[in-house]
Amino acid sequence: MCCFTLGCVDLSMVSCNLSHMSTSSPATSRHVLHGVPVVSGVQYAPVIRPGRLPQVEVPDTDIDAADRAAEAGRFNAAATEVATRLRDRAAHATGAASEVLAATATLAQDRAWLGAAEKRIAAGAPAVRAVTEAVDQFVELFTQLGGLMAERVTDLRDIRDRVIAELSGLPEPGVPLPDVPSILCAEDLAPADTAGLDPRLVVGLATTLGGPTSHTAIIARQLGIPYVVAVAGLDDIAAGTMVLLDGTAGTVTADPDPSEAAAALATAQRAAAAARQWAGPGATADGHAIAILANVQDGAAARAARETPAEGVGLFRTELCFLNRDKEPTVAEQAQIYGEVLQAFAGHKVVIRTLDAGSDKPLKFAGHPDEANPALGVRGIRIAEGNPGLLDRQLEAIAAAAKTTGNQPWVMAPMIATAAEAKTFAAQVRSHGLTPGVMIEVPAAALLADKILEHVDFLSIGTNDLAQYTMAADRMSAELATLTDPWQPAVLALVAMAVRAGAAVGKPVGVCGEAAADPLLACVLTGLGVTSLSAAAAAIPGVGAKLAQVTLQRCRDAADAVLATATAADARAAALGILAGE
Ligand code: PEP
Ligand code: MG
Repeated sequence: MCCFTLGCVDLSMVSCNLSHMSTSSPATSRHVLHGVPVVSGVQYAPVIRPGRLPQVEVPDTDIDAADRAAEAGRFNAAATEVATRLRDRAAHATGAASEVLAATATLAQDRAWLGAAEKRIAAGAPAVRAVTEAVDQFVELFTQLGGLMAERVTDLRDIRDRVIAELSGLPEPGVPLPDVPSILCAEDLAPADTAGLDPRLVVGLATTLGGPTSHTAIIARQLGIPYVVAVAGLDDIAAGTMVLLDGTAGTVTADPDPSEAAAALATAQRAAAAARQWAGPGATADGHAIAILANVQDGAAARAARETPAEGVGLFRTELCFLNRDKEPTVAEQAQIYGEVLQAFAGHKVVIRTLDAGSDKPLKFAGHPDEANPALGVRGIRIAEGNPGLLDRQLEAIAAAAKTTGNQPWVMAPMIATAAEAKTFAAQVRSHGLTPGVMIEVPAAALLADKILEHVDFLSIGTNDLAQYTMAADRMSAELATLTDPWQPAVLALVAMAVRAGAAVGKPVGVCGEAAADPLLACVLTGLGVTSLSAAAAAIPGVGAKLAQVTLQRCRDAADAVLATATAADARAAALGILAGE
């Protein structure tokens, strides 16, 4: 494994969705391009495009041996200057934007690629060529590693361009400051550029590439800038063209009818205003209660979620507390961390998920085997097979935290595939005096949810992984983002199946994947019969406000209509047709 530190920071799980919520726009007539929605909201504005690094001549002749030390010095000074500038910007930013800028600054100073470039300079390469080749080397490596590492390729290329610009005496490449509120369209966006955006001037984002869990997406959520990724055909829209961007539907419409665009904008603004007003608790317009809960990753996130109308925690991703740990935290330390979340929601429901280690979230102390295909390997509950003590000590810590805080959490296992796994897990959880449940993330578990429910007290559907495994499409892949869309009817059919199994025995079935953060889909899930929705704290007001505007019957009608469709786009359109505008 290489030593690029950024690859080890799982910012994809930083829950910071400040998206404006909307009910989406009606499809307008002209040039509708489709992508994958990442941050909700509708905007109508002219397009701007980021500045590119001008073609810099890369000399192919080597430099004299006598000049190589000076060239190395020039290179190091340029890399330091780029890192310093990024660190300054980090100091002036907040939240995820600050974290990403700081992480990019660290990457600019990472010994692995600096060393690779220095080696080339020592062998005679001019600095610009050395930078290009060193970064190419790591881009190739990261691309081969796939998953989260592959998403860091954009960060690396961004560093390369900044350092080359610095070496060449050119202005830093990046996003121009628009004179009027604009929609930034690009092939891809570097997180460092996105982190510096002013959301009053850059009101929407669309990219040809990019994934929903990229750093850029995370920052866009924090800044509340509507964002659509993987938009085919976007490169053909020239700067200055008026576009209607719908971050809820995942569309970009070039040159829309101005009155249709204005109407779509007004609808979105009404939805955002309703979200700001909504104070909970979760219920449809006719009073059907549905708990709206928060996804958190530590005590700080839980305390922040407590400031929203969240009625509890529907998913505490415990593995995110320990991503940088070499050694397993002690029971006492774990108990203290879990206790913080239980304390923040004292007297309220808290669902703690046991360590979902593996795949894109490896934990050093979990002892992962080397695997060709980690997403299909020993992850989640499967870790407990070879290391039962790890799960037992975590349950001991959860029980201790429950005792100290007086808040009895529910505890669920990730990645359950069989009823036998659920049975073993449930017995272990009950032996600690806790309430067991499991996540439904594997199609096999959805298909046999009734058998699983013979052993556990509740289900929580993880639509992120359920989509990945149902569609056989890597959830980290930008190219496959339309397949991993939770609106895929096949995924929703499995959700419906698990919900029916829960209803048949009167046990709760919640949804805690990203699907629950989409106000329209949240209504469909309610219509399917889920009993709770758990999402990033910032998504909660939009979901709650939308549900408060629709009746349970409308939600059921939308769920029936969606289940009758064959494509994600048709599913969305069917739901919109029934639920929009209420
Ligand atoms: C999911 O898979 O939907 C889920 C909530 O788990 P995670 O995103 O942590 O894998
Ligand atoms: Mg999952």
